[in-house]
Amino acid sequence: IPVDVFDLVIFGGTGDLARRKILPGLFRRFLAGQMPPDSRIIGAARADLDADAWRDMVREGIDSFGGPELRGHDSLPAFLRQLDYVSVDATVEEGWPKLAALMRPDVVRAFYFSVAPGLFGALAERLHQHAIADQGSRIVVEKPFGRDLDSARALNRTLAEHFREDQIYRIDHYLGKETVQNLMAVRFGNILFEPLWNNHYVDHIQITVAETVGVEGRGGYYDKSGAMRDMVQNHLMQLLCLIAMEPPAQFEAGAVRDEKLKVIRALKPVPAHHIVRGQYDANHEAPSYRDEAGNPRSFTESFIAIRAEIANWRWSGVPFYLRTGKKLRARHSEIAVVFKDLPHSIFEGDERRHRNILSIRLQPNEGIDLTVTIKEPGPGGMRLIDRPLDMTFAKALGEEAAEAPDAYERLIMDVIRGNQTLFMRGDEVEAAWAWTDPIIEGWEKRNDVPKLYDSGSSGPDDALMLLHREGRRWRDIR
Ligand code: NAD
Repeated sequence: IPVDVFDLVIFGGTGDLARRKILPGLFRRFLAGQMPPDSRIIGAARADLDADAWRDMVREGIDSFGGPELRGHDSLPAFLRQLDYVSVDATVEEGWPKLAALMRPDVVRAFYFSVAPGLFGALAERLHQHAIADQGSRIVVEKPFGRDLDSARALNRTLAEHFREDQIYRIDHYLGKETVQNLMAVRFGNILFEPLWNNHYVDHIQITVAETVGVEGRGGYYDKSGAMRDMVQNHLMQLLCLIAMEPPAQFEAGAVRDEKLKVIRALKPVPAHHIVRGQYDANHEAPSYRDEAGNPRSFTESFIAIRAEIANWRWSGVPFYLRTGKKLRARHSEIAVVFKDLPHSIFEGDERRHRNILSIRLQPNEGIDLTVTIKEPGPGGMRLIDRPLDMTFAKALGEEAAEAPDAYERLIMDVIRGNQTLFMRGDEVEAAWAWTDPIIEGWEKRNDVPKLYDSGSSGPDDALMLLHREGRRWRDIR
């Protein structure tokens, strides 16, 4: 379904994020027929380029990062014709009147702030001063949204000077993932799961986001942030909210975000012994975190595991184990809902513990499976085995799944449609910082030293112990 005609201005249009994700994503939406032919994408950045030079840059971006199906595509010239470029600097006056003159009346105006957060205030101010943004305009802002509660509040206040909350789209691309939305479809579209979705039937929940890459070129930025700020405060907490929230009355922005906020506010403070921080060490083939970050004394964590708890009726006593890290064994992101053991087994001699596990895989191989216990086929008697009921999208849905939009493009289309359901509201972001701030302050006060772990492993041994000592184990990262 095509969206309304729009002018989308990408501040930071020459940057890494724009070339790698935003523009290839928009091209895919163009190919899907979702972008009306008179819509425009206007790059805006400091570089002194003309429109053709930017189009060349976009073409290179699509060829390098868009995947084989986009490379050299016949329709690329038609897409590039819808692109324009203005050179502007958020901090100087020049260029802005030109951008103002480009804007058209009666089309949706959206402004993507794909620049450092330090520039958000200046951009908002200029958009206002030159009357480029109007009452219906939307702005999209990227992570990091602050580095603690105070800075997030300041950022919210700055944006609020010129934009209403319903104009602000705080992007968390995890919410745009097909499987994450499917998690909500499975939970709220089936009668099967909701009755079991509580502390009577759920033993615990695991959320893992494992990466194989290290910090590489981003070491300078990452070293000031660490896994807690870079991954947990936003992505993992958003996933936690969706899995733990009460059913919203409607699948609509206000209702969904109200429920997510309640989850964050119900999170208990985490004692230090429920957290394991790690940092990857050097091995014979790869440098250590400290080498890559260029900081030989760095105490920043490239891995973190947390045992969180939600203090409400539904989840009281159910641990939520969160884990994320770099340089781990595999690129593997998953939410696993591990159900309780059977109260009694009727099968004589079956000593093994069989557990139903609903696993929602974000990558690779997006899909959902439910581990169930069945009889081993054959004449061996009543021998039980555990097997997944597999709902891998690529298998179940074939072509349709292959054509599913990726996270960024879906979210940008939501911005044009004015649908904020999959974006973070200001109060959610602040509540998330209010939970993470005391944890981070605790480390800083204690000079907490992260545990070293081997590149290519599952993280520090202490993280395994976090579950072992409670008779549980992490799911394999593979
Ligand atoms: P980048 O350094 O590659 O690009 C920065 C862009 O900002 C350039 O286009 C530059 O011209 C523009 N810019 C810089 N100063 C400016 C000014 N004074 N006025 C106008 N434009 C100016 O950065 P990036 O990697 O594309 O990241 C952009 C934002 O997105 C950052 O906030 C980053 O944290 C966030 N982000 C990036 C990624 C990613 O994968 N690159 C992922 C998530 C979030």
